[in-house]
Amino acid sequence: MTSALYPGSFDPVTKGHVDIAQRAAGLFDKITIAVYDAPPKQLLFTTEQRVDMMKKAVAHIKNAEVISYSTLTIELARKIGAKVMIRGLRMGSDFDYEFEMSLMNRKLDPEIDTVCLMTSQEYEFVSSSLIKEAAKLGGALNEFVPEHVAYALRVKYGLDK
Ligand code: ADP
Repeated sequence: MTSALYPGSFDPVTKGHVDIAQRAAGLFDKITIAVYDAPPKQLLFTTEQRVDMMKKAVAHIKNAEVISYSTLTIELARKIGAKVMIRGLRMGSDFDYEFEMSLMNRKLDPEIDTVCLMTSQEYEFVSSSLIKEAAKLGGALNEFVPEHVAYALRVKYGLDK
């Protein structure tokens, strides 16, 4: 059985993330989506909220589970027996970052490989940070995030009760 780990901040989960998770779930026997507790960026949602939103967003993916973590990602991969780490790629700048990170991770554990899936065209410009910016200004989000995430964003910015 080949397990894959899909780690990220997911602040919040977008349809771009769900698309990657769904496609990865078709390639591997099991995927673990791991929400990183303390990424080096300012967060809008708590870890618990990010995990809950992700759980709802991928409830239809039968071989996916969602957890949170606060260790080195490679340590988590080892702990859960995942041989593969999944990442998503949009534009060129994603590549530079993911390339560096995958080389670093391979240094830390040569047995664990990174598999990058290209974004689907409709999600090429979808990022959690752009979504938050648009949400703040009251933009329509349903095309880019699941309904429950759009609602959570509206509540966060005081645009809905
Ligand atoms: P990070 O883990 O770097 O904090 P995110 O949580 O936003 O970043 O994303 C987790 C992973 O999903 C990253 O590999 C990122 O490149 C990828 N990703 C984010 N948005 C999309 C998208 N719209 N399409 C494909 N992959 C994406």
